[in-house]
Amino acid sequence: MARYEAVIGLEVHVQLATASKLFCSCSTAFGCPPNTNVCEVCLGMPGALPTVNRDAVRYAALVGLATNCAVNLRSIFARKNYFYPDLPAGYQISQYELPICERGFLPVKAEGKEKNIGITRIHLENDAGKNIHAQNENASYVDLNRAGTPLVEIVSEPDMRSPAEAAAYLKTLYGIVTYLGVCDGNMEEGSFRCDVNVSLRTVGSVALGTRAELKNLNSFRNVQRAVEYEIARQQDVLDDGGAVRQETRLYDAVKNVTQAMRNKEEAHDYRYFPDPDLLPIEIAEENLAAWKAGLPELPKDRLARFRSMTGLPETDIEVLVQRADLADFFEKAAAVSGARKVAHYMIGPLLRECHARGIPFEPSCWAMKPEALAELVQLVDKGIISAKIANDVFGDLFSSGCMPEAYIAEKGIGQISDAAALEEAVDAAIAANPAEASAFRGGKTKLLSFFVGQVMRATKGKANPSLVNELLNKKLC
Ligand code: ADP
Ligand code: MG
Ligand code: ZN
Repeated sequence: MARYEAVIGLEVHVQLATASKLFCSCSTAFGCPPNTNVCEVCLGMPGALPTVNRDAVRYAALVGLATNCAVNLRSIFARKNYFYPDLPAGYQISQYELPICERGFLPVKAEGKEKNIGITRIHLENDAGKNIHAQNENASYVDLNRAGTPLVEIVSEPDMRSPAEAAAYLKTLYGIVTYLGVCDGNMEEGSFRCDVNVSLRTVGSVALGTRAELKNLNSFRNVQRAVEYEIARQQDVLDDGGAVRQETRLYDAVKNVTQAMRNKEEAHDYRYFPDPDLLPIEIAEENLAAWKAGLPELPKDRLARFRSMTGLPETDIEVLVQRADLADFFEKAAAVSGARKVAHYMIGPLLRECHARGIPFEPSCWAMKPEALAELVQLVDKGIISAKIANDVFGDLFSSGCMPEAYIAEKGIGQISDAAALEEAVDAAIAANPAEASAFRGGKTKLLSFFVGQVMRATKGKANPSLVNELLNKKLC
């Protein structure tokens, strides 16, 4: 690879989480019966007039503000003309010469280094419908429920140089749009999808090489793997004295290969022109200022704040801020019990339970509530249960959603902190092991842990360890 350098640029489509579509009042709900959320506007009937959704404009501007873009107070919708069955009007309404946001950048950390990735432009556009090719019959269907759903397309500069950088950029962007609340982040449903452009050039050269555009990438992992494959493929082509073709390629996640789909012409003839049915988007300066002032805390800032709350390393905290709902969960529990301890339980037992049960690391998938985790931390803190017991019952608490205090009381597994009850067990342990007892008295103080272990076994781990230590020291001296 040393001879070549990879050049990567991303086009990310983000579905905006508005209640209604971009140019009509039809619902954007996912999964409704086909062609039930449609009207004359999103069906592209001649003469039907579009009206812009205010929320979509605000959401697009928020994305621009959060990615250091200039937000244009005036931008223009343009028609992008092409024919496809899922596009009833025969054109997509997008933005061309004057997009809503441009010239931004995103600081991205990959492989230990931080770097700014340039953002060329962000434009607002409507989504197409869906073609459904039936498996068992010789037919294709068109569902136009999605037609007209608002999207922003975020186009990056070709600034990324490795698969890891591309994946990190995408994750950073994902964090931003979900923290802003402008996208539901559901990648399986296509709410956040991207095309990746990859080319190689010889190290030291400035001109860009010919690129392939990869489609069908619906996870961060697939982006990373597809780019890795594509770099190796192009390198083979170049090493064999061949030329990379400018084309669109589909990624096959099962085979982990990219395959040519269609040639990509240098310039599509989309015959862009300003949409005569729509006025320019005008944003009042004071609105933009208010949106900027009202931006929520974004992942980077939250990470810094959680670091100082917990004193934990960045790699631990990254796990907690990867989703806004996770960070909220942490913050709720940490407000009641200590931040550092709550963080330990989340990246320890909680993450482990999720892995073991194949449950996503997302609070909405858990029965356990932040109040329950906070209470568990407090039970350990107060010595009502030992850390070991907390670990043992964690799986049950996680899957049942029970409050720990009630659970412990019902199962009778509270820690024994009653000195009289423990004294009996301590006496019995000393009486049963006279040789060790005299060795201890003779100076082998390391045997203390042996006795602690004996008492713990006798009490099934329920004895309060510091109390046991205290009693043993008293009785053995
Ligand atoms: P199109 O809309 O036809 O895909 P654009 O010129 O808008 O074309 O480019 C789209 C994306 O491709 C951008 O993110 C850009 O950074 C990236 N890109 C352009 N040229 C190259 C190249 N030679 N290698 C890698 N990425 C590229
Ligand atoms: Mg493209
Ligand atoms: Zn409609």
